Amino acid sequence: MIVVTTPDITPAQLDAVREHVEALGLRTHVSRGDRRTIVGCIGDDAAVAESGIAALPGVESVTPVLKPYKLPAREFAAGPTRVRLGAAADPVLVGGDALAVIAGPCSVEGPGMLRATAHAVRASGAVALRGGAFKPRTSPYAFQGMGREALRLLAEARAETGLPVVTEVMDTRLVELVAEHADVLQVGARNMQNFALLSEVGRTGRPVLLKRGPSATVAELLMAAEYVMAQGNGDVILCERGIRGWDPATRNTFDLAAVPVLKMETHLPVLVDPSHAGGRADLVPALSFAAVAAGADGLIVEVHPAPAEARSDGPQSLDLPAFDALMARLRPFAEAAGRTLAAPAWAA
Ligand code: PEP
Ligand code: MN
Repeated sequence: MIVVTTPDITPAQLDAVREHVEALGLRTHVSRGDRRTIVGCIGDDAAVAESGIAALPGVESVTPVLKPYKLPAREFAAGPTRVRLGAAADPVLVGGDALAVIAGPCSVEGPGMLRATAHAVRASGAVALRGGAFKPRTSPYAFQGMGREALRLLAEARAETGLPVVTEVMDTRLVELVAEHADVLQVGARNMQNFALLSEVGRTGRPVLLKRGPSATVAELLMAAEYVMAQGNGDVILCERGIRGWDPATRNTFDLAAVPVLKMETHLPVLVDPSHAGGRADLVPALSFAAVAAGADGLIVEVHPAPAEARSDGPQSLDLPAFDALMARLRPFAEAAGRTLAAPAWAA
């Protein structure tokens, strides 16, 4: 249930609305916009509807949310959610007018390649560095990531470049450690419905990049976001990265339509990962431009200084000049979509 308040509601009246709802055994979630404050109610809708809440001073309307997800639902917020990247006083926000491009290697493979990539993507206009420390690999014999050492290298790269760091966490036992090193916790596609992990990353209060599972519906992705948000963490960025299809021409099937669908369904920002969606470096530019045209709030792109030598996902990784060229070509697409490219403080 959503209670939309009148523009002139007083703080005391707002408190009274919340207390009224909570006394009925529901949880409340207040979202403040420029002109309106919305009180989202989570629990038994019927009890609220029958409680006479519509007659309280400061209440304009009371509407049920007929969706299984509540906290990520567009109606639950007074405006789009903007998620900060990093701890800078003036951080880059994902979900505003400016598109955020996050770039870096699939996995952190050592100090040299990470530093080279970090400096290059920063110079090309990326606003955050990605890099896997713990890798979800289909084979247990494939490279599993450098683990703790990679976290240390990521923190070092951040100190050197100022780029906030995005890295995946796969294990509830490691959430605290990863949260100490990373600015954004990535929950990977394979873990999108690992409910214990979703709750645990929710409890850290760190922004979460939640990737859509390879066979998850849009509604299931939003329910996964609900798990994180139910812990009081509203800083969730969703990511479309391709779903399981039947055609081996691409690694996954890029579900472009999911982008505008998500933008209609939720107030959370939506990124696209063109690297995993297509699985081929030569497809990354086209998928990136399409993502921007479809309304994505940014991209997360795999970049490696020597893709042929990469220990994971080389075929879909752009080399440094290709990433630079992508960023240059992205700009007119952003403008055509009524957006800009995020310009971090260091680029000013
Ligand atoms: C990754 O980002 O490197 C990754 C493993 O992505 P996904 O979870 O989307 O497969
Ligand atoms: Mn990868």
